[in-house]
Amino acid sequence: MAKDLRYFLEQLQKAMPEEFVRVRREVDPRYELSAVMHKMQAERLHPVVFFERVKGHTMPVVANLWASRKLVACAMETTVEQVVPRLVGGETGRIPTRMVGSGPVQEVVLTGDQVDLGRLPIVTHCEEDSGAYICPGMLIVRDPDTGVRNGGMYRHMVHAPRLLGASLGPPSHAAHLLRKAEARGEDLEGVIALGHHPAMGIASQHSGSLEVDELEVMGGLLGEPVEMVPCQTVALEVPAFTEIAIEGRLKAGVRREDGPFGEFTWYYGGPRANAVFEVTAITHRHDAIFHDLYNVGHEHVNLMCTGLEPNAFQFIRAVVPQARAVHMPLGGVATVIYVQIRKEYDGLGKNAALAALASHAFIETAIIVDEDVNIYNDEEVMWAVATRCDPERDYFFVPEGHVCRLDPASHSFTQSSQGGLKSKLGIDATKPVEAPFPKRAEPPRALWQAIRLEEYL
Ligand code: MN
Repeated sequence: MAKDLRYFLEQLQKAMPEEFVRVRREVDPRYELSAVMHKMQAERLHPVVFFERVKGHTMPVVANLWASRKLVACAMETTVEQVVPRLVGGETGRIPTRMVGSGPVQEVVLTGDQVDLGRLPIVTHCEEDSGAYICPGMLIVRDPDTGVRNGGMYRHMVHAPRLLGASLGPPSHAAHLLRKAEARGEDLEGVIALGHHPAMGIASQHSGSLEVDELEVMGGLLGEPVEMVPCQTVALEVPAFTEIAIEGRLKAGVRREDGPFGEFTWYYGGPRANAVFEVTAITHRHDAIFHDLYNVGHEHVNLMCTGLEPNAFQFIRAVVPQARAVHMPLGGVATVIYVQIRKEYDGLGKNAALAALASHAFIETAIIVDEDVNIYNDEEVMWAVATRCDPERDYFFVPEGHVCRLDPASHSFTQSSQGGLKSKLGIDATKPVEAPFPKRAEPPRALWQAIRLEEYL
């Protein structure tokens, strides 16, 4: 059995049945489905959700595939602590894709006049969103020069029954490849693969060189080649076990406004003039499951962090080999990073913070802690900040670094807000090495860490 969405849902229900819930009551894809997601998040519930009945549609909708670190770890068949180290090795562990003649993704093929995005239960999420958006698909395109495939995740607003937007951030590989095609006066063919094993989304966050095919990264994460079938209307391939594939072309020189759209920052982004994707075919499994991602919150941030954290970890370790782990907390909405170090000499915490802040434009705040602080627990990190540093000596600012423009607290020299400029903050919350410091109060550490609560409770 190929490792696909259905395989994952089965494995999940076996391994962590409490992390999978079914909603049998009918939900409206306009606001109600996302309202359920939002309410769950507000109650700190993060299981995968399977909406069986969606108003006006026959396809069920699955959501929250990456809503917690536990789910990400489950998708990677590893522990929360091993996610980042494994992702660091992802590029070297790539497995080439394998072509096959046919696959379930083409059990139903709709082309020409049959193409209608209205047949899919595409969700409208936030009150002021400009429309319904497909969010967690992998847009697969090919480099017009080298032929190397590229896979990335972008938001796609529904403009018309056969027209989607494509919000390709200027630094993204897809935007770069579209500019290449446009320089030749050509459209760029693409296929949006929607609904597969969550490793596909994790691979889509891989930010390595242009020469890396993210579907090979996905294969590496799965430990097996991703099987591909030729598309029906474009010269590309799509994973054979995808639930839904949307084929088409990014139109050269055409931009259309989309947004506002509720973003991972918990604020609206846009409107912006984005690329458009003219749909030439929709193919799907006969009993396809539609996949949605609720952007305003945990799932989107978690997923982004599977791209940011391994890169930051590698970058920091290049100058501070004593860095043991990194973690980006949910409330930091991909702007805050915790770094755990083995502090061998004084000043190392500051150096680690500088490296962390330089590792990615999005990273605005770096908090450095000692190795006894659990960086997956916000309370422990806050405790270290509260008790192991003095702000005047241990906080430092880098004025007007470049950050994500979606941060409403950023500014520019010509606009009142959101220009991408903001101070970066380093917090060294590590104990001094050369000066005495109180010991943490606890029973013998080896003893309490080895306690198996089920033997006591
Ligand atoms: Mn790429």
